Amino acid sequence: MSAYKKMLVAIDLTEEAPQVLNKAKAVSEAHGAELMLVHVVEPVGYAYGGDIPMDLTELQDQLDKAAREQLGTYGDQYGVAKNNQVVTVGRPESEIHRLAKEQEVDLVIVGSHGRKGFQLLLGSTANGVLHGTECDVLAVRIH
Ligand code: AMP
Repeated sequence: MSAYKKMLVAIDLTEEAPQVLNKAKAVSEAHGAELMLVHVVEPVGYAYGGDIPMDLTELQDQLDKAAREQLGTYGDQYGVAKNNQVVTVGRPESEIHRLAKEQEVDLVIVGSHGRKGFQLLLGSTANGVLHGTECDVLAVRIH
């Protein structure tokens, strides 16, 4: 019996994403597990602190659309089913926690930069995901 059946890979859509995806693909194939992809778009309101009286809906829609297209390209490239390509809006850690629970995944895969010293104090998404996810978490070292 395989240890993992459903894996959730969180990608930030930077040029580092393929490093995480390549590892996730290999691990999912080794386990014969289903692969699900997620990218979390941060609300534009966060960046402006809500101080500027302007309608950011259009900008948010454009960011969502660009993220969906980019995630779709990766999804097709890595053979991930369309209904397993998820784009959500919120804080990355919280959304990844929520989705992992909701989708009953048994492994979450994230990238990790292996921060040291002062950088470590600033925290990382990988750290945030680890603290709060109920299932196993695989942190793929990014080079
Ligand atoms: P960071 O700590 O921001 O350097 O990100 C490390 C890893 O966290 C990335 O390689 C992704 O796996 C994940 N991650 C960061 N931001 C996001 C995001 N907006 N959506 C999904 N995953 C993310």
